[in-house]
Amino acid sequence: MKTILNQRLVEQQELTEDDIFELEGLHEIRARTFDKMAALNPTNDEDKDTLILYSHLLESLEYNMQRVWKFDQDRNYHSWWYRVPYCTCPTMDNGDPMFFGRRIFRHDCPVHNHIIEQHAGETYEITPDDIGELPCKD
Ligand SMILES: [Zn+2]
Repeated sequence: MKTILNQRLVEQQELTEDDIFELEGLHEIRARTFDKMAALNPTNDEDKDTLILYSHLLESLEYNMQRVWKFDQDRNYHSWWYRVPYCTCPTMDNGDPMFFGRRIFRHDCPVHNHIIEQHAGETYEITPDDIGELPCKD
């Protein structure tokens, strides 16, 4: 399925044909990443590690999408991380602008509970170090 981009936003942000082509490519990778995640078994330790790696890859993808859209590269506005296969984190709360700036994880989420375990008792913000270097355009 071809990605349908929000036309109003495309015009507002004055995206070029190249930008649109690049965004479609990023969404294609995003969809394939979700397919690969869905094919894994979250109760298998090795698969669980792979799920986590894919979730980090997804964060870079979201930063890249923001770059092409000419938005600030801000993790607080990422909107795919809690929609990945097997994620049980609360979609409603995490999609609510009221909660932007912090992420709400669930302990039983196989994709994100390692973040809670690593940072028990503290408010955790994901830093660029957690998701690796952002790929540069040039
Ligand atoms: Zn989750």
